[in-house]
Amino acid sequence: SFSSSNPKICVVGSGPAGFYTAQHLLKARQDVEVDIYERLPVPFGLVRFGVAPDHPEVKNVINTFTQTASHARCNFYGNVNVGKDVSIDELRRAYHAIVLSYGAEGNRSMGVPGENLPGVYSAKDFVGWYNGLPSCRELTPDLSCDTAVILGQGNVALDVARILLAPTKMLKVRNTDITQPALDALAQSRVRRVLIVGRRGPLQIACTIKELREMVNLPDCRPEMVAADFEGVSEALKDVPRPRKRLTELMLKTALETPGEKEQERRSKASRSWGFRFFRSPVEVLASGGRAAGIRLAVNRLEGSGDGAQAVLTGEVEDVPCGLVISSIGYRSLPIDESVPFDSRRAVIPNSMGRVQQAAGLYCSGWVKTGPTGVIATTMNNSFDTARSLLEDMDSGALDVSSTRPGSQSISALLAERGVKAVTFSGWEKIDDVETRRGEVSGKPREKLLTVQEMLQVARS
Ligand code: FAD
Repeated sequence: SFSSSNPKICVVGSGPAGFYTAQHLLKARQDVEVDIYERLPVPFGLVRFGVAPDHPEVKNVINTFTQTASHARCNFYGNVNVGKDVSIDELRRAYHAIVLSYGAEGNRSMGVPGENLPGVYSAKDFVGWYNGLPSCRELTPDLSCDTAVILGQGNVALDVARILLAPTKMLKVRNTDITQPALDALAQSRVRRVLIVGRRGPLQIACTIKELREMVNLPDCRPEMVAADFEGVSEALKDVPRPRKRLTELMLKTALETPGEKEQERRSKASRSWGFRFFRSPVEVLASGGRAAGIRLAVNRLEGSGDGAQAVLTGEVEDVPCGLVISSIGYRSLPIDESVPFDSRRAVIPNSMGRVQQAAGLYCSGWVKTGPTGVIATTMNNSFDTARSLLEDMDSGALDVSSTRPGSQSISALLAERGVKAVTFSGWEKIDDVETRRGEVSGKPREKLLTVQEMLQVARS
């Protein structure tokens, strides 16, 4: 029920963290009102702009988020850049509490010479490009080379490798919402070989078995590994936890076992290849004619074992010719506003159980709380934890909700003064509708609008 005296909470960011936090708050109490502010005109964060287009099943969480957004006590305001269009102090005056769930929009850089050369991209931008993130529309990566090197061996690295090597036919028929310009560029791509490079060894690799299996089974593609990298690995297997054991077994099978006749034939006919390169760190991107032409890698050895093993330089280096370098060594959260504490070393908002340290009334959830690791389910759990902290504080009185706050009313007035036009959830539903219909023509679940301007136009139509 609505009452001007209801506790008013705002959430900054509409990715999984924002939506799961809102969901828990709305469910737990019959009085709280939750407003979600989002920088882009469209909701869902990395579910729309990160998750690989050939993983449509992962995007089903959107149905749950849509239910939350449709809740009578929930409102969505897209196209509002918090920290710029409206400050955190202004939100603090309008709401009883703020939950910061704005994700990790920066990326870790390699910090090596040559990393700004043409032909070098961050995985974040590359993924943003094929997923239709407006700020990455003009990336138009040069795919005219034979070999691509990806630095990093997590799931994002494997997503990028798979998209680079997947037959475009497969991306077309598998119900993907990859953008048409990306599909066209990939159809013209001359990339035939992708090396996925990691500092440490096979037992430290950061991907999961689903993503590895997809590489192993990728049509028209054969594995190309270095057998010596796997020395001693099968002996070490008995002591590792089961998920890693299964992952490593699949790697060992792929790298070392002589395949059956059918698989041999498949591999010999494949026109493309992929492989892990272990124990290597980037030293320098090598240039020729003003663009990336290779990468110099330092050769490491491992000290210690298991997850804690350290890569130590041997002093040896190795040059790998390649025309495309994609660094996939991690996303990074950015500070949002001077008034919010930020731990720039760990690149997170310092917090205990989601309560921002030394900032009563501020909470955080998702990647900005934990750092940029974990799947959607992990993000869901830590967002529920944050919601529980907030509810506890309301119950205990640590969070004072007795005074009346104006909520979105005062913020809407501020935004109007500043010429910022928020997109409501029904505005998003118009965009969704247009995208879905545009997709039907080519048998895709959606054909995304690619610019903020287009999105705003449709939302206001
Ligand atoms: P985000 O999803 O990034 O959401 C943050 C939101 O905040 C964004 O919408 C952003 O626009 C908004 N925002 C940022 N700044 C502001 C601001 N100043 N004002 C207002 N709003 C702002 N997980 C899986 O389970 N399966 C997968 O297959 C999978 N694939 C992935 C692929 C990639 C490439 C990546 C990077 C991640 C993948 N994940 C996957 C992980 C999953 O996406 C994350 O766990 C989850 O999205 C983190 O949620 P979040 O809400 O913290 O951040």
